[in-house]
Amino acid sequence: MKIEELAPQCVWKNFYALTQVPRPSGHLEKIQQFLLDFGKSIGVETWKDNAGNIVMRKPATPGLEKRKGLVLQAHMDMVPQKVADSPHNFLTDPIPAYIDGDWVKTHGTTLGSDDGMGVATIMAIMADKKLKHGPLEGLITADEETGMYGAFGLKAGTVQGKVLLNLDSETEGELYIGCAGGVDVTATMQYMEIEPEEGRKAFRVTLKGLRGGHSGLEICEGRGNANKLMGRFMREAVLQCGAGLSQWQGGNMRNAIPRDAFVVITVDENKERKLKTLAKRCQTLFAEELNTIENGITLTVDKCEFPESETPEEIRDNLINAILACQNGVLRYIPTIPDTVETSSNLSIVTIGEGKAEFSLLVRSSSDSMKMYQAVSLESCFTMAGMKVDFSGAYSGWQPNVESHVLAEMRKAYKKLFGKEPEVKVIHAGLECGIIGAVNEGMDMISFGPTLMSPHSPDERVHIPSVQKFYDLILHVVEDGVE
Ligand SMILES: [Zn+2]
Repeated sequence: MKIEELAPQCVWKNFYALTQVPRPSGHLEKIQQFLLDFGKSIGVETWKDNAGNIVMRKPATPGLEKRKGLVLQAHMDMVPQKVADSPHNFLTDPIPAYIDGDWVKTHGTTLGSDDGMGVATIMAIMADKKLKHGPLEGLITADEETGMYGAFGLKAGTVQGKVLLNLDSETEGELYIGCAGGVDVTATMQYMEIEPEEGRKAFRVTLKGLRGGHSGLEICEGRGNANKLMGRFMREAVLQCGAGLSQWQGGNMRNAIPRDAFVVITVDENKERKLKTLAKRCQTLFAEELNTIENGITLTVDKCEFPESETPEEIRDNLINAILACQNGVLRYIPTIPDTVETSSNLSIVTIGEGKAEFSLLVRSSSDSMKMYQAVSLESCFTMAGMKVDFSGAYSGWQPNVESHVLAEMRKAYKKLFGKEPEVKVIHAGLECGIIGAVNEGMDMISFGPTLMSPHSPDERVHIPSVQKFYDLILHVVEDGVE
């Protein structure tokens, strides 16, 4: 069987067509033209806005003009990842998709089902001439994967519908009604270095073997944060061994939980044994505390070249205190939705050395006010340590509304179609809904999709039976409308 022949054919034939059009993030000319041509071919008003988004507008079936307008939204770009030995060129080559049992997969590349399934579905609904519906719009955004540039560039009023169905979730049977926004917090300090005392020895202490992970989706698991653990070691190393701090490097990406960190320190010659014992004790303690969450933590002490300079004692103490004091991990769960993180922070990157210190953190929250509260508390903490604090890259979350009409409608539809309740969730990571909702006030939004596995990787695949269920559900909502 060919991909174009899978059910529902109206969706899969579009998906197949999309696999033939190169569309890695940042290179969207071909897919934009393809979508413009498609709109023209089916006689639906279609245009490109200034941010590169493609918008389609299909008037209501006569008699249903008074219904609330529905906006069907997906993103056109895909993540270009491939296995090391793949000759695939994402700028020119079609995606080599194929069917394997219940799954559509590809040979050594990402598949682009994230979010090609959403785009293919919008195309199918726009092309369907038999469907009865209220005012319908399609919003196919540009460059979601690299920074949501299309959503950020969307102007108020570009779409007129008041209900948004975002088709970019990855598990059939789950309805998303909220997501986290974020803000980058950066604390910096400059200082004069001093010369380490003579007659001391230098060591590089390395903490490794943590799991790390996504600073939103995995922040609730209590995984070890390399900078926090190193902070605890350093406090003891100063108290017990009088350690001088010359360098600190931990973590490398703002949105990842830091997996490793190292420091370069100096101690009196007669403190070498004490330092090594302390490192062993800390390693055992951390392993015990994080038992079942982490395994394989190592904290090693190695002789290294004697550094030319180090931080003055007072600065060293202030920086270590700030690392220990700053909030990291989950601050609060959503009061109205059990077991769902609302606000968190991740102390991701710490760099100290050569007269400069810089700490990078990412704060996330589905509540904009809690996000700023968290950012400001971090600012207070770092300011007390004498650091300068900047906020940047702030974007809005999508605050869940358990009273949402579209949620009620979709719950009812899901139960009627499949005889069970869907799961209702809030994701602790960014979705375009947060940004689109921020420019279109009062929009009632929901996010759902068919089941995809391992998006953003060459193992990406779509579960074929979930596509029919997803399509049945969306048709039901389009035909019934939302109050
Ligand atoms: Zn996506």
